[in-house]
Amino acid sequence: MEFAAFAERVERLESEPADLETTALVAELFADAGDDLETVTRFLLGRTYPAHDDRTIDVGPASCREAIARAAGPNVTAEDVEERLASRGEIGAVAAGFDFGGQRGLSAFGAGSDPLSVAEVDGTLRELAASTGEGSESYKVDALFGLFNRCDPAEAKTLARLVLGEMRIGVGEGTVRDAIAEAFLAEDGGVGGDEGGGGEGGGGGEGDGEDGGADNEGEENAESATDEENAESATDEANAAVERALQVTNDYGHVARLARESGIEGLNAERIRVGRPVQAMLAQAGTAADAVESFGEVAVETKFDGARVQVHYAPGSDGAGPRLYSRNMDDVTDALPEIVEYVSERVEVPVVLDGEIVAVDDDGSPLPFQEVLRRFRRKHDVDRMREAVTCRLHAFDCLLVGDDDELDDLLAKPLRLRHDRLVDVVPDAAADLRTVDDVETIARLESTALEAGHEGVMLKDPASAYTPGNRGREWLKRKPDVETLDAVVVGAEWGEGRRAELFGTFLLAVRDGDEYEPIGKVATGLSDEELEDLTARLEPHVVAESGTELRIRPEVVLEVGYEEIQTSPTYGSGYALRFPRFVGVREDKSAGDVDTLERVARLADGEGGSDENETKDDGPDRA
Ligand code: AMP
Repeated sequence: MEFAAFAERVERLESEPADLETTALVAELFADAGDDLETVTRFLLGRTYPAHDDRTIDVGPASCREAIARAAGPNVTAEDVEERLASRGEIGAVAAGFDFGGQRGLSAFGAGSDPLSVAEVDGTLRELAASTGEGSESYKVDALFGLFNRCDPAEAKTLARLVLGEMRIGVGEGTVRDAIAEAFLAEDGGVGGDEGGGGEGGGGGEGDGEDGGADNEGEENAESATDEENAESATDEANAAVERALQVTNDYGHVARLARESGIEGLNAERIRVGRPVQAMLAQAGTAADAVESFGEVAVETKFDGARVQVHYAPGSDGAGPRLYSRNMDDVTDALPEIVEYVSERVEVPVVLDGEIVAVDDDGSPLPFQEVLRRFRRKHDVDRMREAVTCRLHAFDCLLVGDDDELDDLLAKPLRLRHDRLVDVVPDAAADLRTVDDVETIARLESTALEAGHEGVMLKDPASAYTPGNRGREWLKRKPDVETLDAVVVGAEWGEGRRAELFGTFLLAVRDGDEYEPIGKVATGLSDEELEDLTARLEPHVVAESGTELRIRPEVVLEVGYEEIQTSPTYGSGYALRFPRFVGVREDKSAGDVDTLERVARLADGEGGSDENETKDDGPDRA
């Protein structure tokens, strides 16, 4: 494909406001791309290499501006380009505003040269990526000058944007994904006709409805509804196959070609591979109660405070050692020699593992996140820093494992099974996974994790698959209690069995003017000693007793944690604490100092509006 033809399509895409039309245009472009399909697909996303490949052409804006200036003629300087950039705000528009050489622009420069092809542009950009060290900077400017010199305005615009990796044409990954399915996997063989083996069934069923009379309308409607449903489910199947193949390969170009050449079957046959990182699966924020409610059984793991890492290793095959990739799939192997040594010494079969690198002190206790950052992407002084900060691998997932000659892709397998395989492969680096079904045990495991210096716990659905790049509800990062409340004890119940002599449950209230309104009962988080202490404190204030229930004068103030505050008809306050947990006695406070109903109402409102999808923005290595 000529680069001018590609640039012309890009211009059309840029001026198309409707999403559906955009997808159709991209699908058409893919169908026409011929041998350049892979490159065209990547170019549309502003990439020369697939996302799993961390090579870059490494051309800064200054070099790009210089190349443009040179191609624009002897009277144009890099400063002129910079000035125009300041007023236009975007390199593509600036590049399109100059007359370059080529056949169409300033004929004095590069006149008569061949039209640029997509393949040639790709080849040159790859040469730029390969060029490093002394002299590479000027080599790159020369090479880019050579390209710009042969561009018409539309080509120059696309090239400049491509070089800086910012296409700005409103074509995102979702559009490309849909367009791949539309071009090559649609029921009727797609816009590209019957090129690959993809579209099964082909055509049929559509044209001959509608135009007849109204006689059998009911039946026809039923039929067309089924047709529609079939088409919809075929589209869903096609989209799902493309999506999955993208998750596994992280290579839009490759997936486009695969869809064209081998259809859904080919896409579904794609497997995770050692040396080709996948995107990390991510977590949403959620409470222990959410996890118990949605999963039934909850897999609880420590949440390590470090940097995400994916370990790829195939021992023996070609003598290559383990490779380590960051959350963004950058190769960070060279920065972490002790992890490389650890993996190559212990791991005996091909694996892809997911985990966290944590900095530890001499006793093996975790150090703050900032410490691991001193090591994680380091290119220089690695050995010296290794002395200063020790890193440790905590692996929590196994995405691929090899047995004999078989490679087992575990992505679709349940977490439970993946974790078993993880333990087989790296018994001493595998994170503990406890399966529990109650909120209290989760709270206990969380306290243990916090006490050991970790960040908290992750709550996962033990039956869930590993879906790369997905921030779903299968993994929940446990939100710490939002805030604690100070509430006064206005009632209690006698304990049972061994604790029959002690109070076991405490009715809590907040202040509403001069009144105290109940908001919940706390019964968890108390040790025997604490129950003894509380019973002794409260007994003098008991005002009435009926059965096992006691009414207590508001005197003793407790601090309580909770999962959330719900509106509730049960209590006079109109609110109920969900899973209240004893934190401590507030000896410093009297009943008049407890939290007010107004604050409870505000907290309940605030929580209702909290964003479950929020991410912690601590930089690329922390999700
Ligand atoms: P956050 O950084 O708060 O969004 O939490 C998600 C991140 O926690 C993940 O991307 C991982 O880097 C990290 N993490 C620590 N321990 C685990 C674990 N056991 N399972 C999954 N992710 C973990």
